[in-house]
Amino acid sequence: MTVLSPATNWAGNEHWAPTEVATPASVADLAATVREARERGLRIKPIGAAHSFTPIAATDGVQLSLDALGGVVRGDAETGLVTLRGGTRLRDIPRLLAPYGLNMTNLGDIDAQSIAGAISTGTHGTGGRFGGLSTQVRGLTLVLADGSIVDCDAERDPDLFEAARLGLGAIGVIAAVTLQCEPAFLLHAVERPVPLDEMLATVHERVDEHDHVEFFWFPHTSGTLYKQNDRLPGDALRKPLSRGRAWWDDEFLSNTVFAWACELGRAAPAAIRPIAAVSARALGAREYIDRSATVLCTQRRVRFRESEWSIPRAALGEALTEIRRLIERRGWRISFPVEVRMSAADDLWLSTAHGRDSAYVAVHQYHRTPHEEYFRAVQEIMLPLEGRPHWGKLHYLDAAELSGRYPRFQDFLAVRDRVDPDRAFSNAHLRQVLGA
Ligand SMILES: Cc1cc2nc3c(=O)[nH]c(=O)nc-3n(C[C@H](O)[C@H](O)[C@H](O)COP(=O)(O)OP(=O)(O)OC[C@H]3O[C@@H](n4cnc5c(N)ncnc54)[C@H](O)[C@@H]3O)c2cc1C
Repeated sequence: MTVLSPATNWAGNEHWAPTEVATPASVADLAATVREARERGLRIKPIGAAHSFTPIAATDGVQLSLDALGGVVRGDAETGLVTLRGGTRLRDIPRLLAPYGLNMTNLGDIDAQSIAGAISTGTHGTGGRFGGLSTQVRGLTLVLADGSIVDCDAERDPDLFEAARLGLGAIGVIAAVTLQCEPAFLLHAVERPVPLDEMLATVHERVDEHDHVEFFWFPHTSGTLYKQNDRLPGDALRKPLSRGRAWWDDEFLSNTVFAWACELGRAAPAAIRPIAAVSARALGAREYIDRSATVLCTQRRVRFRESEWSIPRAALGEALTEIRRLIERRGWRISFPVEVRMSAADDLWLSTAHGRDSAYVAVHQYHRTPHEEYFRAVQEIMLPLEGRPHWGKLHYLDAAELSGRYPRFQDFLAVRDRVDPDRAFSNAHLRQVLGA
């Protein structure tokens, strides 16, 4: 089936023109689409929700949408293993896991992404004991460049599995993903303003004591909004936010008012400093208990561009101090908060948390305000701190610079050479970050 192409990404900073768009409805159909495209000499690029800020999902060949390949293939409440089709959107997963009494271990800020797209760029949430979504993957069904359908996991072709579970869309098309899930749990959320100096002095203790810790620092202020979430059993008493409070904070203040503030700041940059001071205070303290996806995921309706860096946890204080100095020195007016999250070390080949407990520092810019100078300057701060950029967010590094930051980079390229020697899945962005 051919449908209209989503030839732009969520942030609206990338546009491309596929030759055609295919939306296969079965794995056999998907394999036939790949084979046929190759016979015609066309490149292929799977796409999820187009939520990457980079053109990593762009193609001038066949754009493969997996929107018709969603849902559960099989699930097991005992083992917690659930196999989902690759196009399943994260927002549908809580409902799909409910009959098994299971939850995903962790989630990021939003749930619009497809599971295959999310794991392919190393999407993560926060938590000192938890890795990104790819660390929950236990098996994959792939369609390779020759149209073959292959199952891989830690026993069956482990190298292919390691490469593809955080594969940048460069290894094969993920038709299905088996996730290790957990018995359903609730989260006890505590959110409150904390001064930046106090936050930096106590953040590591907080991360060690609480399951999911993050904070937002508002540039031009010395304030942060701190969020901590701790797990409770699934049958604990829910104490959700009232509808009115949830709407006021998460919809009205965080989206409607914030959009006005960003527009005002764009028209009159001098207004950004007072707006930041108000923003830092407006989102006040709150405490509630709710389902994990409800607590972790929010709606982001204000369009922005983002660059996010993983650094060793110990480098967090220096990174934030330098970003603060940078913004002051350059006299920039930045209306978006800087977001800080955490991740446990893992051993995935292209994981930004490979081999080290990591802090993530994300900078954002309103979509109608230039971002490149700010993001390039932040990159210069992050590089000497062993920074690794998020694979789905903006950065200016190439394969030569990235390879030295990942001890298993060459192993990844070797798998790519084996399964996609003709670079059927490549595009300009992958040539930049992985090489030709
Ligand atoms: C508002 C917003 C909030 C975000 N929040 C977070 C966050 O909290 N944490 C975080 O880490 N990131 C976050 N991101 C980044 C986002 O999670 C990643 O960019 C993710 O890859 C997007 O998923 P997608 O389904 O849109 O994938 P796409 O952007 O469509 O594709 C990403 C990559 O996956 C590949 N791909 C897609 N489907 C398949 C498939 N079936 N088989 C093989 N490869 C495939 C594509 O080819 C491409 O290389 C956010 C992005 C936005 C816009």
